Amino acid sequence: MGLQKVCQVCSKTSFRHVTDEWMKRAFKFVEKGTLNMCEGCGAKYLVCPKCGSLMTRIHPALEQWEVDAKCPNPECDYEDPEIKAWDGVSAR
Ligand SMILES: [Zn+2]
Ligand SMILES: [Zn+2]
Repeated sequence: MGLQKVCQVCSKTSFRHVTDEWMKRAFKFVEKGTLNMCEGCGAKYLVCPKCGSLMTRIHPALEQWEVDAKCPNPECDYEDPEIKAWDGVSAR
């Protein structure tokens, strides 16, 4: 079981699966990952491939300190090597 998904921006809890070609191109770690979008405000999050928890929020002006490579679910402990290796530069 994953943690309940709560939007960091608007605190809503309903999400749907989305694909974002721009973000896939811009951020290497989004390319292979799964994105969830908040139904309330449209904020996008990368989802943990192991438990489905929201890993870290993704937006176009993302900076290195904002991303979290570790899954917030203490029972999961997944760490994403692509996020960890990210140098803070988008590829566009
Ligand atoms: Zn939201
Ligand atoms: Zn996880």
